[in-house]
Amino acid sequence: AKGSGRSTYAFYSQELTSQAQQRLELASSLRQALEQQQLRVHYQGIYDLSNGRIVSFEALVRWLHPEQGLIPPAAFIPIAEESGMISAIDHWVLEEACRQMQLWLSQGKVLRFVSVNISSRLFSHADLDQHIARILRRTGLEPRYLELEITESAVMEDPDAASVLLARLRALGVRLAIDDFGTGYSSLLRLKSMKVHKLKIDQGFISGLPDDQEDAAITRSVIGLAHNLGLCVVAEGVETAEQAAFLLQEGCDFGQGYGFARPQAASDIDWCDSTMSYG
Ligand code: C2E
Ligand code: CA
Ligand code: CA
Ligand code: CA
Repeated sequence: AKGSGRSTYAFYSQELTSQAQQRLELASSLRQALEQQQLRVHYQGIYDLSNGRIVSFEALVRWLHPEQGLIPPAAFIPIAEESGMISAIDHWVLEEACRQMQLWLSQGKVLRFVSVNISSRLFSHADLDQHIARILRRTGLEPRYLELEITESAVMEDPDAASVLLARLRALGVRLAIDDFGTGYSSLLRLKSMKVHKLKIDQGFISGLPDDQEDAAITRSVIGLAHNLGLCVVAEGVETAEQAAFLLQEGCDFGQGYGFARPQAASDIDWCDSTMSYG
């Protein structure tokens, strides 16, 4: 019995060590990935629900691993956050997306802006607006063509600091969206003080549409709330024509999801407007 207790302990500690080891290894290969240019940005179209036209793109990072292939952000963003590398990744994605947007504009593409995700780590940097201003200068992109997506939970971590930073970013001329809206328990009063342009309804509420009564009620009230505050609203995770029809009927402005298009490399983008039939 004594022996088996020891071996159980040894087993667990070995497992823990190997988990910690794996994390460390992943963190160091992620650092290499950034240096060796293994990160890629894919772009997912955002569509005007009333006519199916592409209005903008969201930039989404991927890791093109030499052996493991394309790794989704969920598999490395948490490690990047833990190891502090997320800010370097966000900066890289920002610059890459601004360069791509500038290229699209120079090719005559009609797009309102490109949206980039800002991690809560980067959002807590008081000098974020200076970083963004530098990237815009370097890439030559006008501020109004860049939209920053900040999650509701990142904004609500420190709402007072967030209001100040959002006001500075807005003064810079970039557009601001609150991502994953509906999951972070914002109070209405707080929301009013956040000077943003857009709310993105979390896909968790869209998946149950149009049948789930609670999801329908929440979606309807977020659309109403956004419009009453003078904001526009995007639904993410739109997969079916029924969902798109429901959203259009409820007055939602834009839709994004596999039903329109998956995230793709810039070179693979299909510039035809959505043929998803609804309404
Ligand atoms: P997010 O910002 O909420 O992005 C939307 C996610 O939903 C993307 O996953 C997108 O591919 C996925 N999606 C889009 N349409 C559909 C759909 O119809 N059905 C389903 N089931 N999913 C859909 P992705 O690219 O794997 O990114 C996951 C998360 O990783 C993002 O969630 C975002 O929080 C984070 N992320 C991605 N790129 C970056 C980045 O450059 N910087 C930071 N800080 N975070 C990023
Ligand atoms: Ca997003
Ligand atoms: Ca989202
Ligand atoms: Ca999300």
